[in-house]
Amino acid sequence: MNILMLDLAAEYRELEAELMAAIREVLAAGNFILGPQVAALEREVAEYIGVPHAVAVASGTDALHLVLRAAGVGADDEVVVPAFTFIATAEAVSHAGARPVFADIDPATYNLDPASLEAAITPRTRAVIVVHLYGHTANLELISAICARRGLAMIEDCAQAFGADFAGKSAGAWGEAGCFSFYPTKNLGAYGDGGMVTTGDPVLADRIRMLRHHGSRTAGQHETVGYNSRLDELQAAILRVKLRHVTRWNERRRGHAAAYRRLLAGGPFALPAEHGRGAHVYHQFTIRSAARDAVRKRLAAQGVASAVYYALPLYRQPAYASVRRSVSCPAAEQAAREVLSLPIYPQLTEEAIHHVCNALLSAVPATRA
Ligand SMILES: *Cc1c(COP(=O)(O)O)cnc(C)c1O
Repeated sequence: MNILMLDLAAEYRELEAELMAAIREVLAAGNFILGPQVAALEREVAEYIGVPHAVAVASGTDALHLVLRAAGVGADDEVVVPAFTFIATAEAVSHAGARPVFADIDPATYNLDPASLEAAITPRTRAVIVVHLYGHTANLELISAICARRGLAMIEDCAQAFGADFAGKSAGAWGEAGCFSFYPTKNLGAYGDGGMVTTGDPVLADRIRMLRHHGSRTAGQHETVGYNSRLDELQAAILRVKLRHVTRWNERRRGHAAAYRRLLAGGPFALPAEHGRGAHVYHQFTIRSAARDAVRKRLAAQGVASAVYYALPLYRQPAYASVRRSVSCPAAEQAAREVLSLPIYPQLTEEAIHHVCNALLSAVPATRA
């Protein structure tokens, strides 16, 4: 039995009729950039997340970058980011002309550790990007309190957390802004790149609309040097179809996570923690093992795909070699050595989950994990 990390073709088969109708409608209308589909998606996402404003952009990376620019973050500023996340979180800071400062994670949830965040704040710190890794929200109560006390903007990287919440309030509704990615593999994914900013601040929303469209609010007038960072109508139409299913899909992911927990209980692997303060939407189901690389090889031999997100803390990436010497994040280091993400997606079958778990439990080396 061969089990993929993700099966987007299976998702397409489930939705083919709805998707093709939406695509035909856009092609027939002949309007491809900043038209009614994008405007409707922005309204629908704002309502889903529970914020007054949503602005569609070309990617999750651009969402973060444009928020930083719109918030006036730039040269000589520092932005605290977790050391254990996708590189885009830090790249956005660098592109804004500011300096990413890496803080450590809580080893149980892999999310920004509030104590390490506090220690990373300097007089130059302007903002914090809190990442909701693998689909589970960071401790937004503690982190937003720290940001409020220290006068910092809190920006949420919700790329992996569409539909997650903390204390009943959605990821993306807590910070000055929430930044979402519609990269095809995310819980709500387009058939190409896409992103969205959610915010309660009308001034910030308006600036991002201007920045995404070459710095223009009025046709022919460019008040600042902006970007070409728009979501297109086809992707918006596809996302509107998928948005109608994402709640059900996230529930299926949670069901699969519960099945993994049952089948792996008492075994040698550390299972993902839930803080119990809000729904984990299981963008990834990530276990850990000191024998991670050996386990992964044996899974592959039994036809089971797996993935390592992320093999290096960001400050160990060549791109951030210049900051390496000044940083130490032991929890991020250990996570990078031990994490292993298993297949999890709505269309995954119970039979497949059994196969993964049997392969995992037979894959444990004699020394135990
Ligand atoms: C995917 C991702 C991004 C970037 O999103 P893109 O749409 O690929 O630019 C940023 N942060 C995290 C945590 C991600 O997983």
